[in-house]
Amino acid sequence: MTDFLQLRSLKTLEILTSEDSYVVKAEGVNQWVTCPLCKTGRLHGHGSQEQSFQDTPTHGKPVVIFIQRRRYRCTSCTKTLFEPVADLDGKRQATARLVRYIRDQSFSKTFAALAREVAVDEKTVRHVFDDFIEEVEAKTQFRTPRVLGIDELKIIGQYRAMITNVERKTVFDIRPSRAKAELMPYFRDLRDKDSVEWVAMDMYHVYRQVVRATLPQARIVVDRFHIQRMANDALEKLRKRIRKDLSTRQRLKLKDERFLLLKRQHDLTGRDMDRMREWFQQFPLLSVSADVKLTRFVGVKVTHLGEDRGLLAAIDVDPGAGSGDQGAGPSGDGDQGDRAADGLRAQHGQAVLA
Ligand SMILES: [Zn+2]
Repeated sequence: MTDFLQLRSLKTLEILTSEDSYVVKAEGVNQWVTCPLCKTGRLHGHGSQEQSFQDTPTHGKPVVIFIQRRRYRCTSCTKTLFEPVADLDGKRQATARLVRYIRDQSFSKTFAALAREVAVDEKTVRHVFDDFIEEVEAKTQFRTPRVLGIDELKIIGQYRAMITNVERKTVFDIRPSRAKAELMPYFRDLRDKDSVEWVAMDMYHVYRQVVRATLPQARIVVDRFHIQRMANDALEKLRKRIRKDLSTRQRLKLKDERFLLLKRQHDLTGRDMDRMREWFQQFPLLSVSADVKLTRFVGVKVTHLGEDRGLLAAIDVDPGAGSGDQGAGPSGDGDQGDRAADGLRAQHGQAVLA
């Protein structure tokens, strides 16, 4: 019969099965011939000690192995040591294959669930994971991107700056926060930072300041997506504000026109255009933002947004709000809109260069 454990360095002696676990008694197969510490001394038996090691689950149950482990004393260097069991992890009360299992599973399961599954402390799972990450980090070198992207992700209640390699479509790094105090030293000390030629970002002023100060050679590109979203937000806010001062009848009408304003330019009929012009005559401010809106889809230019410096500030659009996470960006300090508008002066088909 095959051995229950199927480990080369251990022989199963007894298996105690209960409803929710396996307890296995086993003994070591290999013994020392000469002392591994001084390489010359002879070893003498020096008693034994019962030790327990957690193993990978079998049949959905956690497994614990008990070993009556022999102990030796070297006649030459007088050190004491245990018999060798190659399948045990050198650092933890676990088999090496359990540590490998935890390492692999820790990416797809929560630490708590995994700890329950293999019947170890949650802290042990976390330490195994940390060790693995440290090991990977030590032997992985990320090449500094030629086209670097900066954006943010909200993770555990806080925005974290995410640095990407735009050309390779990979994540380069994630920082603990997106604060200036965090990013300034990070980019200042970035390895091979001279190789960064372009930096793509949203309009969050901190990113711009940091990149200008630390990567002076890089050209900043504002991701078109952020401008489009900002223009959308501006239009919506403007529409709502205008509506407040209207009669009920006009208000209902403008509500209906919402979809007209959001239509793509090439989808507009002649009748649509007439209705738009009517609104624009009545509310010139609306026409400014509508121009932004109408041109964005056809990829021509973002017009007026840069010239009408007051618009974005007045409407209080948040230029740094996280992608797809509207309204949760940095609280507007009033002049962010102006600064954002500064960056829009030069215009380009795909991206707006600052
Ligand atoms: Zn020795």
